[in-house]
This record gives sequence, C-alpha cells and structure tokens, in this order.
Amino acid sequence: MTRNTLKPGKEMNSWRCYFSKLMRLSVRWVRLCPWQVRGRRPGPLRQLWSYGKVVFNSLYFNILTNWDTVLDSIFEPVYWLVDNLTRWFGVVFVCLVIALTTSVVLIVYLCVLPRIVRTYPAHWILWHLCYGHWNLVNIVFHYYKAITTSPGCPPQEKTDIPTVTICKKCIVPKPARTHHCSICNTCVLKMDHHCPWLNNCVGHFNHRYFFSFCLYMMMGCIYCSISAKDMFLEAYNAIESYYQTPPPQFTSEEKFFHKGLLYLWVLTSSVAVALGGLSLWHAVLITRGETSVERHINRKERKRLETIGQVFRNPYHHGGIKNWKILFGVEKKSQWITRVLLPSSHPPHGDGLTWDCPLRKQDTMDTI
Ligand SMILES: [Zn+2]
Ligand SMILES: [Zn+2]
Repeated sequence: MTRNTLKPGKEMNSWRCYFSKLMRLSVRWVRLCPWQVRGRRPGPLRQLWSYGKVVFNSLYFNILTNWDTVLDSIFEPVYWLVDNLTRWFGVVFVCLVIALTTSVVLIVYLCVLPRIVRTYPAHWILWHLCYGHWNLVNIVFHYYKAITTSPGCPPQEKTDIPTVTICKKCIVPKPARTHHCSICNTCVLKMDHHCPWLNNCVGHFNHRYFFSFCLYMMMGCIYCSISAKDMFLEAYNAIESYYQTPPPQFTSEEKFFHKGLLYLWVLTSSVAVALGGLSLWHAVLITRGETSVERHINRKERKRLETIGQVFRNPYHHGGIKNWKILFGVEKKSQWITRVLLPSSHPPHGDGLTWDCPLRKQDTMDTI
C-alpha cells in the first residue's frame, strides 16, 4: 500500500499505517547500507560479521560437535606448527638422504672397490661389480620414483565412485581406504603414512616404490657392512694406533682411507638395522593386506567386535602371496624378474578408488 492509493476520508488503522511506514524505512535503510548494495559483493565488514556468525552458530548448531572436535580446535595451532615443521624438515631429510647415500657410494668407489679389485679373485670381483651396481641402480630408481610419484588423490568433482565418508578438511567424498594427510593437506588414496624421508605421502601409486626403496637400501647397507668389515677392522686398529708413541707414519691418503671406512661401516650398519626393522614391519602389513593407518583402525575394530562376540575379518586381505602380487603388480612368474628385481614404472593394480573385496565375494557365494 502506498500513500497515493489512500483515498481521502477513508479511515486507516493507526497500527497498519505505522507498520507500512516502518517497512518503507527499513527497506530504504537496508538499501543505503554500505554492505548491502544490490549487485555488488558484500563489504569486508559484512563478510567478517557473516563468518563470525557461522563460526559461532557452528559451535552449538552442529550435531556432530563433541569433545574430540573441541579438543581438535584447541590444539589446531599445535597441529599447524607440527605439520609445517614436518613439511619443511621433509626437504632437509630428502637432501640428507641424497648426501649420505652419495658419500657412501663415493667411499665405496674410492676405498672399497679398488681394494677388492687388487686382492680378490676374478669371479668375486665380477660378483661385487654386478651386485653392487644392480643394487645401486635399484636404490636410485625407487627413491626417485617414490619422491616424484603422487600417491593419488580422490576426484574433486562429483562422480559415481562408491564412497564411505566425507573428508571434514577437503569437503570431498572419500573412497574406501582413503585418508586425509594434514601435512600434504589433501586426501590420499590407500594412504599408508606420510614419510618425511621422501617428503611425500606413501599411498596407492607409490607404495611399491617406497617398499622397494626400503628393501634395496637395506640390502645395500648390509652389502656394504659385510664387504667392508675386514677393511673396517683394519682401519679401526690403525686409528687406534694414531695415539701411540711414537705414532705410526701414515700418509694423508691412508688416513682418509681409515676415516672413510669407519664412517662407511658405522653408517651402513646402523641404517641396515633401522631399515631392517622398518622393512620387516611393512612386510608384515603387506602380508596382512593392511596399511599403517588401517592397522590402527582394524585393531580398534577387532577389539570392539571381540567384546560383542564377533570376529573381525579384513575386507582387503586376499591371502599372503596374492597381497604381494597385488603390491608389486605381478601377474605372471616372469614379472617377478622384470617388475620386482629390475626397475619398472608399471602402474599398480587397480585405480585406488574401488577395491576388490574377497569377503564380499565369499558372502555372495555363501548366499547363492
Ligand atoms: Zn581430505
Ligand atoms: Zn602427506
């Protein structure tokens, strides 16, 4: 109702007139507001107000809010600091791996191999040259592939892929076996763990490269420790004799040889023990058809089901040997040589989005 439509002499209720005026004033005031100009983006003040209102409402409107969420919010700055430190230290760790590996290879070429060539029989020299170089090529290839291959992320756009939940951080549907990595700040397909030594997540597309690198690096360290054991003992005794009176006369070349061998043996034997434990642990997980993340989830689920008298069965466990074949992408016997013992860039089994579940097939067959 506008003022022009009112006929003179026609009585109007005073409250209706007052309401009409109030409405007109409100509309005019809203139109004049700097943050409510039609056709333009809301101003920063309005945006801040809206954001604050949403944040405040989310504290008690969200039915999913619980003490875990509150604690997560409180510790968010700590998580942020740890994630960023790990991300930056990842670069340092990768440089460290490259520097230490290069130094060990140089010492082998300068000190160990010349001694082997001088003193060993021909067949042993050949064996050392073949094995050493095969192992080195595999270490370099698998490390390079593990740090440069993306572990795989779920699609951002809408698809028909079956998903199990929504990621709270990325706000995208998560397929089975996908988990969020707070350091990479993305969801990762078949996430195993975030490896600072690779500065990359270990997931569906680089799991094989990671495991092969651990295995070949461990084998290389064991090879160096065993090959250089006698030379290390000799160098150690020589270093001990430095402090005798009168001190034995060693050339600077001999002193470099002694210290280089000491460094080589201590480093490779320590890494062999540490990587041996890590490789063994991952070998157990692969045999069970679990990732490191699933290990924790499955253990909790196993305990929960035990309390209600049920038995947990891992849906992704195909049997020990089949699990290894799936990891290495081996289908024929000859591929154990071409795809495992030799460097190979073949893609892994499956797309990392959908998974064959032997238990589901078994249940279907039981029902039939
Ligand atoms: Zn995510
Ligand atoms: Zn990551």
